Amino acid sequence: PVSLTVTVLGATGSIGRSTTDLLSQHAGRFRAGALVGGRDAAALAKLARELKPDFAALADESAGPALAEALAGSGIPNGAGESAVLEAVAREADIVVAAVSGAAGLKPTHAALRLGRTIALANKESLVCAGDAFMRDATRYGARILPVDSEHNALAQAMGDGRVSDIAKMTLTASGGPFRTWTRERIAAATPAEAAAHPTWSMGMKINIDSASLMNKGLELIEAHHLFAIEAERLDVIVHPQSIVHGLIAWRDGAVTAGLAMPDMRVPIAHCLGLGDRLEIARGRPLDLAATGSLTFEPADEARFPCLRVARAALAEGGAAPTVMNAANEIAVAAFIRGAIPFYGIAELVERAVEQFAAEFGHAPEDVEEALAIDARVRAWSLEGVPATRAA
Ligand code: NDP
Ligand code: MG
Repeated sequence: PVSLTVTVLGATGSIGRSTTDLLSQHAGRFRAGALVGGRDAAALAKLARELKPDFAALADESAGPALAEALAGSGIPNGAGESAVLEAVAREADIVVAAVSGAAGLKPTHAALRLGRTIALANKESLVCAGDAFMRDATRYGARILPVDSEHNALAQAMGDGRVSDIAKMTLTASGGPFRTWTRERIAAATPAEAAAHPTWSMGMKINIDSASLMNKGLELIEAHHLFAIEAERLDVIVHPQSIVHGLIAWRDGAVTAGLAMPDMRVPIAHCLGLGDRLEIARGRPLDLAATGSLTFEPADEARFPCLRVARAALAEGGAAPTVMNAANEIAVAAFIRGAIPFYGIAELVERAVEQFAAEFGHAPEDVEEALAIDARVRAWSLEGVPATRAA
């Protein structure tokens, strides 16, 4: 059989690695199209030498010479800078895995969408920042969006042939993060290392902090709203510390279908890459419910996790509020990681940004350019609101 060409945006990241692991495991079925990274030339070059893609690109132009040197003699074409990333996206591909982190993922992901590609979407920020535009353009350009995010992937599987109009409630589960059982006082004094210690998933740093604050679940509510064309009133969150059940759909007749799997991102990625076929995952741990023993559930506490409240409000408000929220959150998370603001400083900054800007920008961004303009403006404003360095 002819192998499928898979391009990976964010190839050197957490999702990127899980993806390339699957590509290597199923080397007969897949070949690498373009591999794209941010700035780590050594990591991308190593990956490229293993997978022999058609093209390797880094977003950071200044890393170009290092990448060229690291790939010297390999025969793998490569480049750096925005034009190189767009050249990578333009290479032929049957599937594009969009796994850049943050708003930086909007442009390359949208470029793939405009080419009508099948997109395995991990970059939830694309839908949070410009969801209306992305979903509209997916239809316009004939692109398919397959959800990689574990909850949305589980929900897509739980949907089966069901109709959104028959859904009473769609529920995303949250692990609750490392602070699930902590008091508000203890959370207030949490360090970046404590926030990054995720109990069930192994992920990139930014999403780890978002999981600790439950902002990740807020972003995911907005993501689900766009992916499934379902309104905020029928979306819900429940805390489930074992991270085995990822999403539940309660139908109008009272039946509930759910998506279960071990917390391993290769499961939803494999579901996307399989395009209807089920791929085996080497070294994957099968779900053993008898060994797990119990699956527990509890309500999400918006008092200790105000980011969830702020995100729900942004989803309800609509317009540019989610775009503003995401931009402020990215700055706030970076500030928290470098020790410049305390943990609850994240929610505070994000809430202030939404109050400051959402009304000013009004309507939802019409396109990626408008979303990125809002993003840039809110980032600059947010940066002014945080100390540049570690607080004394
Ligand atoms: P990581 O931080 O681990 O990886 C990010 C990747 O993006 C790296 O390859 C990085 O390259 C690359 N990158 C950074 N900036 C740019 C840029 N401007 N242009 C191109 N590439 C860039 O993130 P994750 O893998 O954790 O997350 C990726 C996305 O997937 C996020 O949107 C996240 O929300 C989503 N997601 C992640 C999950 C997970 O389990 N990790 C689960 C569900 C969703 P470099 O290292 O060189 O900077
Ligand atoms: Mg998720």
